[in-house]
Amino acid sequence: MIALKELSDLTKYCTCGNRHFDISIDEIVIGHDALHQAVSYIKNHQFQKVAIIADQTTYNVAGEKLSNMLKKLNVNHEVVLIQPNELDDVIADETSLIQAMLGIQQDTDVVIAVGSGTIHDIARFSSFKMGKPFISIPTAPSVDGFNSMGAPVVIKGVKTTYQMQPPIALFADITILQQAPKQMIAAGFGDMIGKYTSLADWKFSQLIADESYCPLAAQLTEEALEECVKSIDQIAEANEVGVKILIESLVQSGLAMLLVGHSSPASGGEHHLSHYWEMEFLKQGKAQVLHGAKVGVSAQLILNLYKNDVLKLVSTIESLEDLDAKSKDKLNNVIEKQKDVVEVLNSLPDATTLSNLLQKLEGVILPAELGISSELVRNSLNEAHLLRNRYTMLKFWNEHVGIRAAAHPYSARKSIEL
Ligand SMILES: [Zn+2]
Repeated sequence: MIALKELSDLTKYCTCGNRHFDISIDEIVIGHDALHQAVSYIKNHQFQKVAIIADQTTYNVAGEKLSNMLKKLNVNHEVVLIQPNELDDVIADETSLIQAMLGIQQDTDVVIAVGSGTIHDIARFSSFKMGKPFISIPTAPSVDGFNSMGAPVVIKGVKTTYQMQPPIALFADITILQQAPKQMIAAGFGDMIGKYTSLADWKFSQLIADESYCPLAAQLTEEALEECVKSIDQIAEANEVGVKILIESLVQSGLAMLLVGHSSPASGGEHHLSHYWEMEFLKQGKAQVLHGAKVGVSAQLILNLYKNDVLKLVSTIESLEDLDAKSKDKLNNVIEKQKDVVEVLNSLPDATTLSNLLQKLEGVILPAELGISSELVRNSLNEAHLLRNRYTMLKFWNEHVGIRAAAHPYSARKSIEL
């Protein structure tokens, strides 16, 4: 993983012309004694009053140990255990946010998130609103959002991402992460392999819609992705090396987002599908499934669409006269940049490469395994691009062809059986 110092040096030489944000994290520790180092950090910074935010599970795996270590050093602290909802899910919704904020006192110096993605979203949001810094202690390598700014939270049933704050420090204890459930490790990997299509979409949005693009952030994300894919066997074993590479990759992806101040390097069409599914689950009152598990599945669907239909469309675009084109200049840009776009598409792996990788981790491969119906898949392919303004290939496809229910490209396809 790139060191913070090295990143700040590299940033000076990046000539992309876009704004680079200062990364205000002063320490990232990934290792076996990370919990000890977190306590030393708290002691060295003379934090006197600490609020630990966890849920019962993450308290059991790491929070209690941290609490005992703080006790030994006489660091005053309280534990805020976020309660699950009636479906036994811990959700970053208004109830949990208020519970967390009530647990953070006026004289609290620092908030510590001990948990996976959801606990981090709750801690990130509530600490920022209470004007306190927060420290990240991930308990599973399941998502790339630990060190990001954004807190996706659910308010009145609608999920919105608010820009809050990154942690001031992150301590990832490998021993704890190695004990994470297999499905969470597979989910972290799923979030990472979603970067194939997010990076392709980001490049596409620059080529066609002139959206801001930073080659340094793209490179950091790509390196993290490649490192992960190379280490699939070690990750599957959840051995020390594998788990370390996975969490480092997730953190590095988070750093790339911080650098550019938005999530484009790490979130394209595949994330838009995943958000669409999540919103549908919320509407139906269904229990949530892991973010990364959804992304692993949606990335395959998006790859199938891009590698087959979008590639065909782009390659033959000059001969298509009756395109239902909502945006003529984007279409002209695609014609003009045809070679570059085809190159981006050809550099992508096939969906089956992803399913083979996920299989090694015993991860989720098909939408149905997540309770996502073929109708929901179809609707999301038709509508998810409307969730964001980003000019992804999913948006381009929908604007220029659309996916008609009757001729759905996946209904007859073997590799993704719905
Ligand atoms: Zn993600």
